[in-house]
Amino acid sequence: MFSYRHAFHAGNHADVLKHAVLISIVKYMTDKPVPLTVIDTHAGAGLYRMDSELSAISQEAQEGIQRVLAQPELAKSKLLKEYLALLHDFNPSPKSKLYPGSPFIVQHLLNDFDKLKLFELHPTDTRLLEQHVAQLKVARQVAVLRADGFEGMKKFLPPPQRRALVVMDPSYEIKTDYSKVLVSIQDALKRFATGTYLVWYPLIARAEAHDLPKRLKTMAQHAKRDWLHASLIVKSSKFTALPSELLDGAKQKRPGLPGSGVFVINPPYTLKAELEEAMPELVNLLGQDPHAQFHLESS
Ligand code: SAM
Repeated sequence: MFSYRHAFHAGNHADVLKHAVLISIVKYMTDKPVPLTVIDTHAGAGLYRMDSELSAISQEAQEGIQRVLAQPELAKSKLLKEYLALLHDFNPSPKSKLYPGSPFIVQHLLNDFDKLKLFELHPTDTRLLEQHVAQLKVARQVAVLRADGFEGMKKFLPPPQRRALVVMDPSYEIKTDYSKVLVSIQDALKRFATGTYLVWYPLIARAEAHDLPKRLKTMAQHAKRDWLHASLIVKSSKFTALPSELLDGAKQKRPGLPGSGVFVINPPYTLKAELEEAMPELVNLLGQDPHAQFHLESS
């Protein structure tokens, strides 16, 4: 049984990077009056409260989106302004502390004729996702499937109108997720080479995580597809040496995720320029120590 619950992490720096990129892609792809299918292979609960007990325990939103919300004057780029505007749509009252996950961000930007397929395996989060989606009254547009997203997405590719975005955001709780990402993206490219694929991954000291973007790049190059790779580091991955009197296990803060990346195959041509403008702002807003930096490369 999975123990990962995205409610602990909603709105953290990894969500900020991933969701900013997602907003840029979906806005571009929904600009045309041709139906789009979005497949979110790892959907989570869809909607979160940043004043929930889980969010308070982790404090991750505090180090993520709350920093952006607290300093909107530092978010001057088109993309971060659009991100903040979208959050405002979910929180018209200053008291409201909702954070939309990928399903709700996407649905908010879709046209009526677009479709959204949401895969989630965790029983509690599937139930929450179903409840949240039911409130939207968009049953014909959004399907919630309690199934393995790696396998389940196959049946939707290629989509009837031949326009699709796949969002693949596993928790990487199990090591095999890394190889599953590679196998399923390879398979998806065979089924539908012109689809847009967005993969998120953590920057952690694990060979599989380190290799994932390199292997996706090789895959995209072999398939003669355009690609873009963006990563955001917010702090050093090393433990800070604390004086011995402070080395009280109960009080010591865990190091947390130092950074993450997104790899996009067939990105919109507008994405790179939008990130060139937004990434320095994200480093400025979310950086926690002098190691904070971003990397951006593309085909
Ligand atoms: N994409 C979401 C967002 O941005 O708001 C967050 C997703 S969270 C990182 C990953 C989710 O995938 C968890 O809710 C987990 O229960 C779910 N999950 C894990 N393995 C899965 C699988 N094979 N298929 C579908 N969902 C899975």
